[in-house]
Amino acid sequence: MDVYRIWYCRCTGKPLELSYEDPTEEESRGEPVCQACGASPSSDPRKTISYRDVENWND
Ligand SMILES: [Zn+2]
Repeated sequence: MDVYRIWYCRCTGKPLELSYEDPTEEESRGEPVCQACGASPSSDPRKTISYRDVENWND
C-alpha cells in the first residue's frame, strides 16, 4: 500500500488542486504551488492550503 498527499488551495472558494511547476523533473520536485494565488504548503499567509491523504492499494 502506498499513501500520497494531494494539496488543495481554497483561495477561489472551491478546492483547487496545487500543481508542481515542472512535473517532468521528478528528482528535483519542489513544493506544489497554487496556480491562482501562488500559495504553497510552507508559504500560506491566508491559510487557504489544505490536503488530503490518499491511500493507493493498487501497488
Ligand atoms: Zn490559491
